[in-house]
Amino acid sequence: MRERAEVVVAGAGVIGASVAWHLSALGVRDVLVVDRAGAAGDGSTARATGGFRAQFGTSINVRLSLFAREKLRRFPEEVGADPGYRPCGYLWLARTAGELAALRAAQRVQHEAGLSEARMVEPAEIARLNPAASLDDVIGGAFCPSDGFLRPLAILRGYLDAARRRGVRVRLGEEVQELVRGRDGRIGSVRLASEEVACGTVVNAAGAWAGELGRRAGVEVPVTPLRRQVACTAPSSALPEDMPMTLWPGDGFHLRVRDGRVLLLRPTPGARDPFCADVDDGWLREVQSVAVERVPALAGVAIDRARCWAGLYEMSPDGHALLGRAAGCENLILVNGSSGHGVMHAPALGALAAELIVHGAVRSLDVRLLEPTRFQEGAAIQAPGLL
Ligand SMILES: Cc1cc2nc3c(=O)[nH]c(=O)nc-3n(C[C@H](O)[C@H](O)[C@H](O)COP(=O)(O)OP(=O)(O)OC[C@H]3O[C@@H](n4cnc5c(N)ncnc54)[C@H](O)[C@@H]3O)c2cc1C
Repeated sequence: MRERAEVVVAGAGVIGASVAWHLSALGVRDVLVVDRAGAAGDGSTARATGGFRAQFGTSINVRLSLFAREKLRRFPEEVGADPGYRPCGYLWLARTAGELAALRAAQRVQHEAGLSEARMVEPAEIARLNPAASLDDVIGGAFCPSDGFLRPLAILRGYLDAARRRGVRVRLGEEVQELVRGRDGRIGSVRLASEEVACGTVVNAAGAWAGELGRRAGVEVPVTPLRRQVACTAPSSALPEDMPMTLWPGDGFHLRVRDGRVLLLRPTPGARDPFCADVDDGWLREVQSVAVERVPALAGVAIDRARCWAGLYEMSPDGHALLGRAAGCENLILVNGSSGHGVMHAPALGALAAELIVHGAVRSLDVRLLEPTRFQEGAAIQAPGLL
């Protein structure tokens, strides 16, 4: 065993990169980031559509977003890159009284957690915020102007490059094959294909593969992959680039404009191989027809089949991140399970995980609800289904 690292971060996605940079910012430079892919961000991060929101239904997610938002605003000075944060807003459209009541209930939670600018909107205001959205059946909605967009790979690369400049090592194309535990239950080393690396702490930032990595340490990590598909149109000026992310919470259909193309999403995993990176034709036809019905300006806008893609959410049982020590393995830190919100929360989760590693406790935010042990303790987070 030649190499040693104070902290090994398994996974060079946006979460692992954020953890590594925040460790370096707290003075821990003896950090090794390892990823089995040949390029950083080859997991889910590159497949994210780049939405940022603080409009959630649970206080913990709202607070994570607000903390992350502050860090995104300071990103250029602190990290030296543009994270692409653009507050174009998130606009939710309700078509039933039940959906509207759920949006209103979530907004109470948001206001209590400090997101004061989120507001309920009437159809007339919806028409001003997004004139392209059909108001057929829409009875009201919710809007937050500070929600919007970010650039997942710019955040990842910003963190990783800045961490490297501080001495953090990054090894790509290296799989973590085993987390080798000693008699005391602690991980003493990490077995890679090429060598074994002794370590003080290991961070499981393996995204949708966090459960698989956990098993390599004999630790149960309740994170499972969930396939999500994205339809991408040909270049089009049918909708403006700064159109708010617009969502129909009843069935989860939503759309945004990115780099002159419209991205369409609807959460139906499809019947094929869950790891398939291509989209299903049937799903594509369905999402296109829903899109034209809800946004008539999209009639005649072609789908660019080669630009469509599928990727994986990293689902936890209650749809919230896992942040803390793994049960029974004190020096294995879990930072995963964000359940489709990992990019927007990465600035917050990385900072909090670094605090846990360096100070022995998280200081900046009360995140006890995210303890990984909550599932065994019957303390899973109760979240409303809609958002
Ligand atoms: C279609 C789609 C749209 C999305 N849209 C958004 C959005 O708008 N906003 C948002 O915030 N989030 C969004 N997400 C979710 C977001 O992509 C994830 O939450 C986020 O990328 C998770 O980051 P990560 O670093 O944990 O995972 P990843 O980026 O997947 O990184 C994990 C890394 O671990 C590596 N790895 C796994 N096992 C091992 C091993 N044994 N050894 C070494 N390396 C290993 C993988 O190669 C991978 O690179 C979306 C996801 C999808 C699929």
